[in-house]
Amino acid sequence: MTADFRCGTAGLVGRPNVGKSTLLNRLVGRKISITASKPQTTRHRIGGVLTRSDAQIVFVDTPGLHRDRGSAMSRYLNRTARGAVSEVDVVILMVEALRWTDEDERVRHGLRGCGKPVLLVPNKVDRVAGKLGLLPYLDRLRQEEGEFEEIVPLSARRGENVDVLVDRVRERLPPAPAMFPADAITDRSERFLAGELIREKLTRKLDQELPYRLTVEIERFHEERRILHVEAIVWVERTNQKGIVIGKGGRVLKAVGTEARANMEALFGRRVHLRLWAKARAGWLNDEQALRGFGHDG
Ligand code: GDP
Ligand code: MG
Repeated sequence: MTADFRCGTAGLVGRPNVGKSTLLNRLVGRKISITASKPQTTRHRIGGVLTRSDAQIVFVDTPGLHRDRGSAMSRYLNRTARGAVSEVDVVILMVEALRWTDEDERVRHGLRGCGKPVLLVPNKVDRVAGKLGLLPYLDRLRQEEGEFEEIVPLSARRGENVDVLVDRVRERLPPAPAMFPADAITDRSERFLAGELIREKLTRKLDQELPYRLTVEIERFHEERRILHVEAIVWVERTNQKGIVIGKGGRVLKAVGTEARANMEALFGRRVHLRLWAKARAGWLNDEQALRGFGHDG
């Protein structure tokens, strides 16, 4: 530990799909936040803990803000995203390099007057052929002077320039001792992470709307003779959705289980025994009470 040790939090905000969860995983070097090429994969606030000799930073990943305010689920997602900005020391606004969409503009607007330093991060620079193409884009962004304290282009996928972002965040944190042990990687429990990994596999395998219409409940989570036993229920709203989740001859649910288990064993460093069921319960998506029961409690 250095004399000038700093500790604090940085919130990752941005429209869905810009790469917030990918960056979080890159920062902590492990897969703790689930990702998919579908928007609204991230439902819960999760903190990733990065510890260096000169700082400990908790990066907070959030669901993107939702336009649809109708359901209890989207109210929950918006509350979670807004809450994250109010509780952090530094805000990281992520966009995609060379793009600035209406949704990006809305997020930027939402941050005005938040009273926190905002660092702008154009991600996915690996997609930009010839880095020279970035220069006029960055020049344009720099004209937004005052609004962003720094602009740090990077590639979350490849890890390019990520250390520079960490330095820029660190400079803005207060001197403080570490909040977590040096080997911590997240502020969430293994039980929570297990449910999220299952949901990630389902999100990647199922088409269209179904990923947004299901939730995963961990029923049992206990260790016995160094083997972790996990039992989980995939809740959907209707029996035909249950059939799709299970798949022909159980194929879909079986593949979900195999992949989720492999991820859990890598993340938890022990053997995992996983059992999955699919069940239908009408209306859970619009029922705040049921959401709380499933652990969507902010
Ligand atoms: P989030 O919704 O902001 O959390 O975005 P995700 O982290 O889930 O990423 C959305 C998609 O963008 C996924 O398919 C990622 O693999 C992809 N992605 C994220 N970062 C990068 C990057 O640096 N380069 C490229 N090419 N793709 C990326
Ligand atoms: Mg995400």
